[in-house]
Amino acid sequence: MLIDTHQNSLAIVGAGIGGLSLAIALRRLGLPFSLYDKAESFEAVGYGIQISPNAVRVLHALGLEHELASISNVCQRMVMRDLQTDKSLLSWPIRYDVPYYQCLRSDLHAMLYHSIGDDVVEYGKDVKSMQDVRETHIVAADGVHSAIRKNLYPDYQAQFSGYIAYRALVPYDERFAELKNTTTVWLAEDQHIVVYPVGKDNMINIALVAKQKELLGESWVQAVDNNEIMQRFASKSGLLNDLLMYLQQQGTQSYCWGLFDYKPLPSWRGHQQVLLGDAAHPMLPFMAQGAAMAIEDAWVLAEQLKQGNDFKSACVAYERLRYKRASKVQKISRKNADIFHAKGFVRYGRDNAFKILAAVQPQLMSHKVNWLYRYNITA
Ligand SMILES: Cc1cc2nc3c(=O)[nH]c(=O)nc-3n(C[C@H](O)[C@H](O)[C@H](O)COP(=O)(O)OP(=O)(O)OC[C@H]3O[C@@H](n4cnc5c(N)ncnc54)[C@H](O)[C@@H]3O)c2cc1C
Repeated sequence: MLIDTHQNSLAIVGAGIGGLSLAIALRRLGLPFSLYDKAESFEAVGYGIQISPNAVRVLHALGLEHELASISNVCQRMVMRDLQTDKSLLSWPIRYDVPYYQCLRSDLHAMLYHSIGDDVVEYGKDVKSMQDVRETHIVAADGVHSAIRKNLYPDYQAQFSGYIAYRALVPYDERFAELKNTTTVWLAEDQHIVVYPVGKDNMINIALVAKQKELLGESWVQAVDNNEIMQRFASKSGLLNDLLMYLQQQGTQSYCWGLFDYKPLPSWRGHQQVLLGDAAHPMLPFMAQGAAMAIEDAWVLAEQLKQGNDFKSACVAYERLRYKRASKVQKISRKNADIFHAKGFVRYGRDNAFKILAAVQPQLMSHKVNWLYRYNITA
């Protein structure tokens, strides 16, 4: 596609995970772009993130293999436990041709930012529509609250999911050695907790999700007292109670988010704009795939911009290649909330299925997600 003339120029709006990945992919293909972000300067927000093999393959293909390995811990096992009894329900090995990584989102963001070059992003530029840029086309990678998506689809409303997520980080300590190289998930009727080490084992990420009746504002994020976390998530698990006690002793600031649910959009394209990442397919975090999907999107869009004759045909092809997969992940993320928090017969059925799998062939669990993790968009 001709995007090097005044008539055909490209602005990426949002220098987050998706926008920066796209910038790196475009540069690799020799395609020019401008990159804008509304933040005043580079700001890397922390907390843990899991980077599954489908996204790792893209980051490797973008030339970031060593940088990624240097900020990440490798997950080798998934462990599901019952929060009420602390008994293990099921655990299975994670084995692919590339690692399943766990790192800090701030480290991932910084890695992408430094890889594109510190002076490439134009900060302090709040872009809401075509009028705000000099370029002729926009890729909106402006995140979950995308202003460009709101312009394209003013009636597309997020629904409060009925869940809130607390997120906390503590320095790694040897007494939590059994958490090493694993993702551990505790399940209960109206809560679940995900714990994994991040950043070369020097931190532990704790994400705690609970049901909450009240409808919260979309931008609702608030600092929380670690005491509240300890009380709300006290359980029979000695390991988890110790971890939450340790969090309280450390006194690090924890936060809480209202989680919002989004249905797939009818389309990701406007006349001169196209959506990418959370702007296109915001999702609940129950598949740990939001950033992974943004990274896959970036690869595909860059390839299509290189091959397409014009912006429109490139975006049509991009949407055709991406829409079904990302919408499927959006839907399963929502369904996982029901499985994780199952009650009564559903819970009984789930736990029995886990028991049978644990006794017979726990690694069958990985087959269930092969369509997701074995996918190689760069092949
Ligand atoms: C509790 C929780 C746990 C998660 N865990 C995982 C996980 O384990 N694995 C995973 O893959 N994903 C996970 N995610 C999801 C992941 O964080 C997001 O999906 C991902 O960051 C989306 O990337 P993005 O580039 O679309 O948006 P972002 O990374 O949010 O970037 C958007 C950028 O756009 C900029 N921007 C916004 N508006 C404007 C504007 N008007 N003009 C200019 N710039 C603008 C912002 O400043 C920002 O830099 C989790 C999310 C949550 C809430």
